[in-house]
Amino acid sequence: MMFTPSYVALYESGELESRVNQLNARLLSCDICPRSCGVNRFENSGGFCRSGRLAAVSSYCDHHGEEPALSGTRGSGTIFFSRCNLRCIYCQNHQISQGNDSSAQEMDSHQLSWIMLHLQNDLECHNINLVSPSHFVPQIVEAVHEAVRGGLCIPLVYNTNAYDSVSALKMLDGVIDIYLPDIKYSSDKWARRFSRSKGYVTASRSAIMEMYRQVGNLVTDESGVAQRGLIVRHLILPNDMSGSIQSLGWLADNISRDVTVSIMSQYYPCHNASQEPLLARKITSEEYHAVVTCVEKMGLENGWLQQMDAAENYLPDFRREGHPFSVI
Ligand code: SF4
Repeated sequence: MMFTPSYVALYESGELESRVNQLNARLLSCDICPRSCGVNRFENSGGFCRSGRLAAVSSYCDHHGEEPALSGTRGSGTIFFSRCNLRCIYCQNHQISQGNDSSAQEMDSHQLSWIMLHLQNDLECHNINLVSPSHFVPQIVEAVHEAVRGGLCIPLVYNTNAYDSVSALKMLDGVIDIYLPDIKYSSDKWARRFSRSKGYVTASRSAIMEMYRQVGNLVTDESGVAQRGLIVRHLILPNDMSGSIQSLGWLADNISRDVTVSIMSQYYPCHNASQEPLLARKITSEEYHAVVTCVEKMGLENGWLQQMDAAENYLPDFRREGHPFSVI
């Protein structure tokens, strides 16, 4: 049966328009993310994310490097938003998220909806993948409202660092079909030091619980392409700065052992990370293996493990044990 994203019903009932109005009103004294800067984004961009009334888009494309359930065969229709509500010292996209991104273009809802329809109709992507969306929730919902009128009918992926406010996420209930949050830390101390975020652990865990309440476990079509549900990403940091075992244990105990996770080994010390001794190297085989072993012990069985360097030999062993995880 043909999948219909949940936002179509929301549009038809008039609720989507109501959400646009409610979210835009919150820009007057911005509390869209947990920072609650209180700035009037109609007049200035003086909040932590340095974003005003308009969405700032760095680029968009059909992306074939996401998890297989997102990229499928035709790619994930990715929109990279500029600026960010975190400042990770190891950010791989720091020119987009933290610097003066000369390629960024400020867009109104009409332009943003045009991109969504282009990704769907011309590039035939499986979904619209909103990367770093947290500070542009009102702008995104406004653009979706316009795009549905133009025929948008593929799932929206909310690809976030999980520093999201639950009240903003509630406005996305029925709008987003696929949530793709990171779970970056299990220590507020390291989150503050490396990403300049206060209360990341509580905020991200509350956000992930709300996302799961909305969409549940991952559902795919007959080709394995995601239609709805939660996928949680975890990037292993050196010296266990990401608190991998605690984060994954929290997921298993508080979300579900059936939750889909994507465990990433790709960390390398870019941006300012080389100045931070705890983050100034890639992860070791031992660190990677410890996380993989722990995933298995916790009974987390759905998702993907990113392979380490070819010289490392853990994943073939892991696969021989018959673990259902896929290797990417
Ligand atoms: S979205 Fe931006 S301005 Fe609004 S609370 Fe978050 S960081 Fe501050």
